[in-house]
Amino acid sequence: MAEVRQVIADAAHALGDRLEAELLLVHALGKPRSWLIAHADDVLDDAQASTFAALVERRRHGEPVAYITGHRGFWTLELEVTPATLIPRPETELLVELALARMTTRARVADLGTGSGAIALAIARESPAASVVATDASADALAVAQRNASRHGIRNVRFVQGDWLAPLAGERFDVIVSNPPYIEANDPHLGQGDLRFEPASALASGADGLDDIRRIVAQARDHLEPGGWLLMEHGWNQGAAVREILASAGYREVLTVQDLEQRDRVSGGVWGG
Ligand code: GLN
Repeated sequence: MAEVRQVIADAAHALGDRLEAELLLVHALGKPRSWLIAHADDVLDDAQASTFAALVERRRHGEPVAYITGHRGFWTLELEVTPATLIPRPETELLVELALARMTTRARVADLGTGSGAIALAIARESPAASVVATDASADALAVAQRNASRHGIRNVRFVQGDWLAPLAGERFDVIVSNPPYIEANDPHLGQGDLRFEPASALASGADGLDDIRRIVAQARDHLEPGGWLLMEHGWNQGAAVREILASAGYREVLTVQDLEQRDRVSGGVWGG
């Protein structure tokens, strides 16, 4: 017999993270997080305690919390995530803000490599008259993204399978966004922490991490309306390199924007116009 407050304290200690302990407990009990506020004195029965202990054990062996619980919040949306998708990161919300700021009411937007659908769905939710198309090479990821759209009743996103812009032949957009893989292939971080469990194809991209960004920059020129924006997330140390790739490809108004931690996070530019 153990009180909620005590099992959380013990798990928080074992995991070195109180939030993670709380997220796993409410998942084990099938309750919303707000349930904890008024139930710290409740006593878990044996079945609940052992379900929770098993989840804490999985986390202790490295499995990301979002894959254990099957969901993660992004923007205003609670999203299903599976090991077929990257786990949405809070810093990626910057890309959503920058895209929204450049969109007219009825803008046509493409999100390349959508994963769980996080970016496309956040943009579509905020801009209901926009028409958004989301691509991904992975059929499994697209199935997750589609379920996320249905669950939130978001109807202005179309999902298509394929590499970057390949499935969008002949289509043009006002804004193209992407959070592509951008980690250097031999970066030791890929073998550490949560990254070990995420799809390698969503994380790493060649020796300098920029192979996919180069492809997207080249392909997007044939898919932007005159004056349209390409915006891409990248690593904190890649701003200058991505600006150079954009400028050499002929984009104008090339810029880099920093995230809340003052790290270079998104770069972009305007095509033609
Ligand atoms: N931002 C992620 C990380 O560093 C990487 C995501 C990506 O490659 N798009 O953990």
